Amino acid sequence: MAEPLASGPIVRGELDWPRRFDHMQQHTGQHLLSAVLADLWNYSTTSVHLGELTSTLDLDTPQLTSEQVAQAEERANQVITENRPVTIAFEDAGAATGLRKPSSRSGAIRIVSIEGLDRSACGGTHVRATGAIGALLVRKVERVRKGVRLEFLCGLRAIGRSRLEFDILSNLAADLSSSFEELPRVVANQRADVKALSASKRELEADLSRYRAQELYAAAQPDPAGIRRATVRLADGGLDELRGLALAFAGFPRAVFIGATEAPPSVLLSAAPDSGIDAGSVLKETVSNAGGRGGGSSTMAQGVLPDRAQLDHVLSVLEGTK
Ligand SMILES: [Zn+2]
Repeated sequence: MAEPLASGPIVRGELDWPRRFDHMQQHTGQHLLSAVLADLWNYSTTSVHLGELTSTLDLDTPQLTSEQVAQAEERANQVITENRPVTIAFEDAGAATGLRKPSSRSGAIRIVSIEGLDRSACGGTHVRATGAIGALLVRKVERVRKGVRLEFLCGLRAIGRSRLEFDILSNLAADLSSSFEELPRVVANQRADVKALSASKRELEADLSRYRAQELYAAAQPDPAGIRRATVRLADGGLDELRGLALAFAGFPRAVFIGATEAPPSVLLSAAPDSGIDAGSVLKETVSNAGGRGGGSSTMAQGVLPDRAQLDHVLSVLEGTK
């Protein structure tokens, strides 16, 4: 037992009741949930975390199925509706029996009981009967180390969370002109549509690149060595946008393609295998000389440069005008 406080300055304490009651609900709910899990499957609670927003408990079982979660949640809520008394008693640790978790203490211990279900040594704050827990909602279940971690909410927290999720689902369903029940099917259909559209977009982009490459190749004048060059420079967008075109252009005989984007200053070089140009080594050397870095294969390479001026310089070198 604690020593009585020495007399001194008077301190005024004030209980924040809504906060205290919320804590009592979460904490008693944890006793209840742990007891139900032990009762149903003999799973022990190895640790507990009561947080500001949600609470968790860890179980010594490698897995907990969603059916088990639903069953435990239902059982816990049943005990809540039964409004069983939650009582406090002091007993001698050595003589106390039937505790959910044996106590390692000696002397008098405080035992919190849920009638007919649980006896636990605990010094925390609890509601007086299970009905005051209000409701218990089990949420996320995740694997942790060798066990399972269960997230749960009690009382107004459970109601608040359900309200939030209802609002999210309502908005989502309204956006998709669907009902709640239809949402999984509607979302699955949309995902399938997006997948099909993306595939067809990729095909169309490849087709477009082939046509553009053909056009550029036809317009390019061969130099004395018979090499045809084309340069495409984008003010914005990434090099990825040019890769399809670069690939298609280098598919023509003795073709060399130079692509550039300005933000960040980057350059891409592709070369037909019969062009006699090794894109990787040419690009690496040119870009390194300009203070940048890059490289690639003999047919496709890319690099980044410190600034626009260096990009202009590198492009003029690659185009063979300097
Ligand atoms: Zn307790």
